[in-house]
Amino acid sequence: MKRRTLIAGIAALSAGAAAGAVGGGFAYAETPKAPALPRAVDHARVVPHVKGAPTLMPAYFPIPHLTKIPIPGGMIHGLPGEGNLIAFTVDDGVSSDVVGAYAEFARTTGMRITFFVTASYPAWRDHADALRPMVESGQIQLANHTWNHPDFTKISDGEIRSQLERCGDFIRTTFGVEAAPYFRPPYGNADARVLAAARAAGYPQAVHWYGSIGDSGPISDENMSMLIDRWVTAQRIVIGHANQPTILGHFDELVKTIRDRGLQPVTFDDVFLRP
Ligand SMILES: [Zn+2]
Repeated sequence: MKRRTLIAGIAALSAGAAAGAVGGGFAYAETPKAPALPRAVDHARVVPHVKGAPTLMPAYFPIPHLTKIPIPGGMIHGLPGEGNLIAFTVDDGVSSDVVGAYAEFARTTGMRITFFVTASYPAWRDHADALRPMVESGQIQLANHTWNHPDFTKISDGEIRSQLERCGDFIRTTFGVEAAPYFRPPYGNADARVLAAARAAGYPQAVHWYGSIGDSGPISDENMSMLIDRWVTAQRIVIGHANQPTILGHFDELVKTIRDRGLQPVTFDDVFLRP
């Protein structure tokens, strides 16, 4: 697992360097004149009212107001340009308890999260009512992580389309939102054929990551703390999983790390324009 993380990090590093070289002065500043620093920290801001929730919730994380840029397409590993953003992403949903805990974590903190939903897991139905107001407000984004998590490099183009469509249909029906154009291939595995097949199915934006908190399988508290400290930094896409209970003891640490480092949690819809 560590080796995979390292490899992903190296890949992201080179991808990030390339994006920086091409992108130059990045475009998501508040105005064209401002330098590319999308600071949006306003801790006095109150997160939007959600049905059934108190009007005043702890506004640990404000709503970012960024000038959005077009999706880059292909595979992204990090957020482009310089800034203080962090895209915290959570995959799968093997554990209904962990999905429920994430929903409560988001509701009470204002944490912005993109879930990559594997739609066949019951967790997403179990907690749809808790998640829906935050999905509607944009605090939580739902993206496509297939129906039942096959390795896309080992299935046909038609099966890739079917996997994405079935998950997309579930998200649309259950939450009233469109997952496209964002998907994450299971295991992060995608080659040029996979990306082309996904694009043809309406998903031109694959999302990889630049650091994992290590909970796709069992992990110790010590290792998770080490990974949070290592990877929760500016402009990263960080991956976690709603599979193992370990994260339940690390929500406060995650909040503290993000706040201490002056980071702004964002969804991909906060940063990018949909095509
Ligand atoms: Zn997964």
